[in-house]
Amino acid sequence: MKLETLLNLQEEDSRLRNLQRELTVVLPARRKEAKERLAIAQKAVQAATEENLAAQREYERFQHDYTQQRDNMSRAERNAGRISSLKGQEAAAAEYANAEAAANLAAAAATVAAENRTPTERRLDAAREFEAAEDMAVTELIASLEARKAQVEAEIVNIQERRGALAQAVEKDHLHYYNRVCKTCWPAIVQFDRQNSVCTGCNLVQPASVMQAVLASEKSDYAVIAHCPSCGRILL
Ligand SMILES: [Zn+2]
Repeated sequence: MKLETLLNLQEEDSRLRNLQRELTVVLPARRKEAKERLAIAQKAVQAATEENLAAQREYERFQHDYTQQRDNMSRAERNAGRISSLKGQEAAAAEYANAEAAANLAAAAATVAAENRTPTERRLDAAREFEAAEDMAVTELIASLEARKAQVEAEIVNIQERRGALAQAVEKDHLHYYNRVCKTCWPAIVQFDRQNSVCTGCNLVQPASVMQAVLASEKSDYAVIAHCPSCGRILL
């Protein structure tokens, strides 16, 4: 059967198409997906870092406030020691009391801020841990994608070599026609549904003449090939 080589060629082309699709569509998409996965984890760390920094700044602000009020208290105390008039003493005592009240408020606020800081630290730790795990997983994934890419490229070279050898065994006219059909229809060689007179490539019902052409082609041992008048595919 002369068409056998052409069918073998189609089989190699089918493999080639799948590998090329993997190389140009599937692998890049998986790589992009992996990078996006890592970017999500990195963004989470960034957000947690900012949140934690804000909590820390708040804590420091209240701490600073507290220290300042303690200083005010000391100053009031020193003033009281130097002042002899009753009025002055009273003023210094009032100043001290004010500073003390403010210091107490600042201390309470600092405690609350410190308590708030703990969960943001925990969230930051968790985000960092997740990022490290994702980083490792994504690095591994990308390495395996790279390995697969090299494998696919090597396979493509092999198939192209085999295809070249097969193509030489196919009659020039047939090869030319097959290559032309491949550009618009895939697969280029399909079965003709003889019972229903349908091309299984385009699924259109064909006139009786097509059936006769298919039978004649078979009889001639495929020296002449039959094709679908609707889509151009080679019919078996
Ligand atoms: Zn057709």
